[in-house]
Amino acid sequence: MRIDLHTHSTYSDGTLEPEDLILCASKLGITHLALSDHDSTGGLEAARLKAKEFDMTVISAIEINTIETNSSVHILGYFIDENNQDLQNKLNHHRQIRETRAQMIIDKLRRMGIKIALSDFNGRKEKAAIGRPHIADKLKEKGIVFSRQEAFDKYLSKGRPAYIIYEGPSPQDAIDTILACKGIPVLAHPGYFVPTDAIVALAKMGLQGIETYYPSHKPDQIRNFIEIAKQNDLVVTGGSDYHGPGSGHEAIGEFTAPEDSIEKLLQRKAKLFG
Ligand code: AMP
Ligand code: ZN
Ligand code: FE
Ligand code: FE
Repeated sequence: MRIDLHTHSTYSDGTLEPEDLILCASKLGITHLALSDHDSTGGLEAARLKAKEFDMTVISAIEINTIETNSSVHILGYFIDENNQDLQNKLNHHRQIRETRAQMIIDKLRRMGIKIALSDFNGRKEKAAIGRPHIADKLKEKGIVFSRQEAFDKYLSKGRPAYIIYEGPSPQDAIDTILACKGIPVLAHPGYFVPTDAIVALAKMGLQGIETYYPSHKPDQIRNFIEIAKQNDLVVTGGSDYHGPGSGHEAIGEFTAPEDSIEKLLQRKAKLFG
């Protein structure tokens, strides 16, 4: 078993179509892959269909970016029921907030003399979630920057001139949304400034797992998250957060989840939902 519980496709800010993501993962020997696009389940069906060719298992997943006292907390949901109408209504709402925010970022760039328009992104798929990486790619296309990273560093990151905060749901709201469609909520990349007391608070809200094995996590952080998992009864998971070639998040195959992680997530699902 080779498990990657965190990947993105063109249904959010990944650069590969779901089918190409599956192809890429299969070449690296991945047997179980969670497609966890931001605020969209649009790529799951195509991914599952393609995965059949390789005897690979696709886990239905989602990543919901939340906002907690001005800092960003990302919550992954596993084994969600993507046909749940309340889930789809919520995701649709999140995507609308993303569109509004993208327009505000574009307005800021325009005032700096960089002319891009929301209509430049019309070629995207229906039900795809727009994010800052799409704007970064447009800046790259126009020759203003060389990479997504440079676009974030110069314009899009917090504290940079075209930054706009994402007014998304609260962590409790995202956890409730995931639980309401029989999904298992897991904290994504806690190494990006999620303090221990915040993780403990999330566990009390219903969080079930913590993404421990992750590209930017150092060995001492990994040890710490394993300890936090033990103390708060959380499943230890992991993933690459692969966003495709040219994304700057390209460590697919290098960061896998523990072999027992899927079984443990499924045990939580059975315990919570029967
Ligand atoms: P958004 O969802 O619009 O707030 O954008 C967040 C996404 O941007 C993350 O999921 C990453 O894919 C990407 N991202 C964040 N920081 C960087 C960076 N410094 N370089 C490249 N991509 C980034
Ligand atoms: Zn992303
Ligand atoms: Fe994330
Ligand atoms: Fe992600």
